[in-house]
Amino acid sequence: MASGTALIYDEEMTRYKLLWVDPICKIEVPERLVVSYAALQKAGLTQRCVALPVREATDEDILLAHSTEYLEAVKKTPYMTLEELMTFAVPYGDVYFHPNIYHCAKLAIGATLNLVDAVMTGKVRNGIALVRPPGHHSQRSTANGFCIFNNVAIGTLYAKKKYNVRRVLIVDWDIHHGQGLQYCFEEDPDVLYFSWHRYEHQKFWPNLRESDYDSVGKGRGAGFNINLPWNKVGMDSNDYLSVFFHVLLPVAYEFNPELVMLSAGFDSAIGDPEGEMCATPEIFGHLTHLLMSLAGGRLCAVLEGGYNLTSLPQSVCQTVQTLLGDPVSRISGLSSPSKSALESIQSVRSVHQQYWACFKHVAAKPGYEPHTKHSKLEAGQDGLQPGEETKEISWPEPLLRLPPPTRTAVALPAGLEDSVPESCKRVTETLLTPEEAAEKLGNLNIQDLKNKDLLQSLGNVQSLVDKIEKKQVRNGLLLVPDLRKTLAFAVQHALISLTDRVLLVFLGNEAPVEVRVDGKLMLVQFCSTEPHEPKSKHHIPVMMKGFGDVPGFLHAVLTLLLPLAYGYDPGLILVAMGKGSGMGVAAWTQLTSLLQGLAEGQMLVLMQQGDEEETIRTTAASLLGEPAQSLGTLGDPLPESMDAVEKLRLKLETQWGLLQTRGQNLPREPECLEQRKEEVDP
Ligand SMILES: [Zn+2]
Repeated sequence: MASGTALIYDEEMTRYKLLWVDPICKIEVPERLVVSYAALQKAGLTQRCVALPVREATDEDILLAHSTEYLEAVKKTPYMTLEELMTFAVPYGDVYFHPNIYHCAKLAIGATLNLVDAVMTGKVRNGIALVRPPGHHSQRSTANGFCIFNNVAIGTLYAKKKYNVRRVLIVDWDIHHGQGLQYCFEEDPDVLYFSWHRYEHQKFWPNLRESDYDSVGKGRGAGFNINLPWNKVGMDSNDYLSVFFHVLLPVAYEFNPELVMLSAGFDSAIGDPEGEMCATPEIFGHLTHLLMSLAGGRLCAVLEGGYNLTSLPQSVCQTVQTLLGDPVSRISGLSSPSKSALESIQSVRSVHQQYWACFKHVAAKPGYEPHTKHSKLEAGQDGLQPGEETKEISWPEPLLRLPPPTRTAVALPAGLEDSVPESCKRVTETLLTPEEAAEKLGNLNIQDLKNKDLLQSLGNVQSLVDKIEKKQVRNGLLLVPDLRKTLAFAVQHALISLTDRVLLVFLGNEAPVEVRVDGKLMLVQFCSTEPHEPKSKHHIPVMMKGFGDVPGFLHAVLTLLLPLAYGYDPGLILVAMGKGSGMGVAAWTQLTSLLQGLAEGQMLVLMQQGDEEETIRTTAASLLGEPAQSLGTLGDPLPESMDAVEKLRLKLETQWGLLQTRGQNLPREPECLEQRKEEVDP
């Protein structure tokens, strides 16, 4: 299994800049790269990455996505006078040239291709290329929006050609629409392009009709182009996460990519003069984490935009730390997406319903019409005028993300010690006395607690919960002789010793614990028999038609469990699989991998002794940060599972706002937008 994170950077790409006065282009400055790299150095991240060199792209590389005429024209720019460069740029719009930009543009492609090579050959698992100029606006014969050549398009075509990669997912979280990427792949069913972008009903640059949600791809590529337009500014982490849970991730898993290319523009972060959004840099750690269980972890991030010289380097650091496997910061206070975001989410899900099984259940709006009003273009009316300064917005500096000294501790019965990787720390603790155990398992007869193996496992649980709380250990795996008793004990011990909330995810039919009403414990229970009516809103049984329904289970994890868990924001996660649940290894490790984005990765997995060695080994590997196994091609989920999940989601969405997918209920204006309005009109 490949490991390691590549970092590709070369100072040479800082050696071009705007040479004339241009209020639009003035934000694309060399300092963008300088501050990003310096922040990585300061955080000690550069030396933890595998440094890879850049190279100059060849003509052959460039011609993968561009025309000969255009390449030949750009080749002349190093010899042009200032005046000639200005004239050359005019027909393209929102782009500038410099005698050294052709050289840098070739390095930006070469950096991308070296990253693709390193990931595809298994030299590293993932990586990031910090490049200038960016690429996603560049088209076959056109420079555009600070972009000369389309780095990610070329990287994608190169991976398909050289490595025969069959399906590539491109995630473009830059705040502008990467129309160059859309044009390049809109007829290609092997490349799924996802972009979210500030749109404001076509009033925001590049003001294209085809950036709206109803551009779904053409011909055989229909369904493989997903545009999520932001029709208001001020979107925050609620909005970004909701789009991942309810649009991108379900489709991405169904698409089953072999490689993920990330157009990593950070103008979607707070403080950016272009985006005017409100998502703090920590969100990029989460978005990155949520993509890392796809494609066996093969992820190539390539810098696009990002113009606030504070939030850009912070966001780059968050992304790189997650690629390296550091625990992801908690995001507290999540509530629900804004009304405008929900309208966009609903529109995308409806229009893509015919292409993706994960959206089959989505009710079309009555008398469904594209909702976006294409009003007469008045560019800049709502946003900033070119050259207008953005208001000073401040946000707290992201907290340090320090991993505990031990990543994974395991307690396994004799004979199974060798079934997990060497790097897992073994724990063997002293037995609890039956009296100590009975104290936390109040209703049990002490005679039931005399089993030595049980007392040993209770001691292990107690010790591991304590070590996780003290941040000595990040996560743990226990194989226990009596899952129900050990789990009940683990919950009691955690509730007594932690001040924080505990999330228990349980796969099995009998709820292992009683959930109290104080909200300190949330139990999400996947079961295959009709559950008893829960006594607390924090006990959520999810009825599945058997755990063999992998697409149905995944749908429940992505669109129900993750939104609930993010809304609940636990400090510790307990995950337990009852015996004979029938859950496949791949689906199980997807669950354990995805959940590690919560609670700073503090998680304890309990399994019944007697589970197969393969399950134990892959669970330990997942806790150590190895990418989850691919789920392969998913069939259609069973209608019964989908119905159950959807009913539950609708029932719970008023309490848990991240479950919402429709625009008509629970309006919430983006908050920092409101604040800004107040600042303008006191
Ligand atoms: Zn951008």
